[in-house]
Amino acid sequence: MALWRYHKYVSAARRGPFNLDSAPQSTEFFDRYSRQILFSGIGKVGQERLASASAVIVGCGAIGASTAALLARAGVGRLRILDRDFVEPSNLQRQSLFDEADARESLPKSVAAEQKLRAFNSAISVEGTVADLTPRNVDALLSGFDLILDGTDNFETRFLINDFAVKHQRSWIYAAAVGSYGLTMTIRPGVTACLACLLEADHLSPSVEETCDTVGVLGPIVQLISSLESAEALKLLAGKEDALHGRLISVDVWSGHFQSVAVSRNPGCRACDRHDFSYLDGEAQPHVTMCGRDSVQIHERSRSLDLVALGARLGPSVESVRQNDFLLRFRVPPYEMTVFADGRAILKGSQDPAVARSLYARFIGA
Ligand SMILES: [Zn+2]
Repeated sequence: MALWRYHKYVSAARRGPFNLDSAPQSTEFFDRYSRQILFSGIGKVGQERLASASAVIVGCGAIGASTAALLARAGVGRLRILDRDFVEPSNLQRQSLFDEADARESLPKSVAAEQKLRAFNSAISVEGTVADLTPRNVDALLSGFDLILDGTDNFETRFLINDFAVKHQRSWIYAAAVGSYGLTMTIRPGVTACLACLLEADHLSPSVEETCDTVGVLGPIVQLISSLESAEALKLLAGKEDALHGRLISVDVWSGHFQSVAVSRNPGCRACDRHDFSYLDGEAQPHVTMCGRDSVQIHERSRSLDLVALGARLGPSVESVRQNDFLLRFRVPPYEMTVFADGRAILKGSQDPAVARSLYARFIGA
């Protein structure tokens, strides 16, 4: 269905109940989603609500990519995909939206994801955004969406999402996987426990301390957690809150162990009780060690780089310069640096922030 026809359909759907007579162009819509509409938990009204709903997926690695694909195919009307990283060969084992060509071209994940999602469903709005979520841009990137979905690989970003969501009374779904183990919890501010209730209480420690860097991660646990997250998203966006499981679910696909526990709100919670949103007030993150490889990310404040000029300037002093519209990559053995147009850079081959800062200053400039 052409985009304008789809918008016409959505407008008609917003005016009143689904009606084939009053929406003659909706036959294709009805057919496309027929198996989902036949499912009594969604139905026609639920499908209409999905069509006018929106979600932002923060991080398009393994869980984010699978969740984005499921929601795009399910007909969620508007999706934004945020990711700061680019596709690499080591992603292909589990990140189901990407292929070898994406890795060869080092496409930003959000750009590659947008292309794939548009091919899955041209009737929805999909926007891939190359960005790192920070306290400075969190309002601009997350505002205006019905639901926020966790596809991140680190707790700093998850707490930033949690503080934003609690402050603005917006639902979000926590999801994480490492090794063969994963967990997920749907967070509805004011109704359920929040991430700070779960992880900042004295008797609990962060549930996933290992990273993909140290213990790896299996494709099947990613798909399973993504499926649980996506099902919860469909319930919320279709207006079926009564169907939400309301638990912290954890699964290990290697041992076959499934666990589901109720999590109570912490009466003195920093975020949802005391409204101390310290992650929103955070200073710019100076460095972040990334999941999945031996890398350091360097953040720069709102800096705009001319990658073509930079590539020309670097040419003689570094090796293997490659670039596309979004990034520039070069090698300074044993390191490899990837620079984005917004000034961010990822240094591969070291986890030492001082080395990263030094190479950045030397080749990109302070
Ligand atoms: Zn809380």
